[in-house]
Amino acid sequence: MKPPVFDYFAPTTVDETHRVLAEHQADGKILAGGQSLVPVLNMRLAYPAVLIDINRVSELDHITLDNGRLTIGALTRQQTLLESDVVAEHFPLLAEATRYIGHRTIRNRGTVGGSLAHADPAAELPAVMLALNAELTLSSTRGQRQVPAQDFFVDYMTTALNPDELLQAVQIPAPAPRSGWSFKEVSRRHGDFALVATAALVTLDEAGTCTDARLVLTGVGPTPVTVDLSTTLIGAVPTADAVAAAADAAREAVDPPSDVHATSDYRRHLARVLSRRALTTAIERAGGRV
Ligand SMILES: Cc1cc2nc3c(=O)[nH]c(=O)nc-3n(C[C@H](O)[C@H](O)[C@H](O)COP(=O)(O)OP(=O)(O)OC[C@H]3O[C@@H](n4cnc5c(N)ncnc54)[C@H](O)[C@@H]3O)c2cc1C
Repeated sequence: MKPPVFDYFAPTTVDETHRVLAEHQADGKILAGGQSLVPVLNMRLAYPAVLIDINRVSELDHITLDNGRLTIGALTRQQTLLESDVVAEHFPLLAEATRYIGHRTIRNRGTVGGSLAHADPAAELPAVMLALNAELTLSSTRGQRQVPAQDFFVDYMTTALNPDELLQAVQIPAPAPRSGWSFKEVSRRHGDFALVATAALVTLDEAGTCTDARLVLTGVGPTPVTVDLSTTLIGAVPTADAVAAAADAAREAVDPPSDVHATSDYRRHLARVLSRRALTTAIERAGGRV
């Protein structure tokens, strides 16, 4: 099918983008990589009167590391993220998860900002942003605001973005020393959206005690789900029993829908199995032993 008729703007600066967004509000839609929006338009699931193509706004395309804090411009392509030495060295969880996004041709166009703003409930990057305690910069003619990733994903494909706001960048603090990471996913075929995926980040101190641990699941509900690990892992030297208890908690924390791809029970089973594997790998990478 062909998309509905729309007006087309191609701003070249962030300020110009803000002005066009402010003028058209909910009638306007940002076009980034187009990997989700174009199919939605072609299937006539959305009828924006105006498309605002940000592909010429070069100031949105950057990856910078400053005092250990990573900033990723919204227009950064997913493949660029995957190939970044800075990301691979300092934020390997991000690199590991990005590998699971579709295929290279999709990642060549798909952007970091597009994936987060689209907020597909089975997408990889939203879960990773929660696991990494990321903050998102949302901007408009009214100014900028910082939103923690955990407050950004509101409901099924719904975010904290207002109609006149641009997702401008994502900031990620450096994980503490002695942190280990892991991203595990099950999908029907490589490149498909996740049936279930887990992102884990674990920090140990010199004695091997877990000082911080984060576990986030995707594919299990309308938004990514963070599992509370305060009573299972944090504050003790991790053992196999503790990891099993954390994985059980992950299973109990989710209430996934059944659909044509998997039943709710199977997804809950995956939530437990993948959580156990992800936490085990993360603990080992942090220098611990389970
Ligand atoms: C075959 C196929 C397989 C895929 N597999 C996966 C997968 O496994 N995992 C996965 O996560 N994704 C997958 N995708 C989706 C892909 O990663 C998309 O690139 C991503 O969901 C959207 O990014 P985009 O840059 O293409 O955004 P677009 O499609 O251009 O936009 C998506 C939405 O975000 C909004 N938007 C985009 N940028 C901004 C911004 N800066 N500020 C505010 N709003 C913005 C748009 O208005 C639109 O509503 C797949 C896509 C295809 C076609």
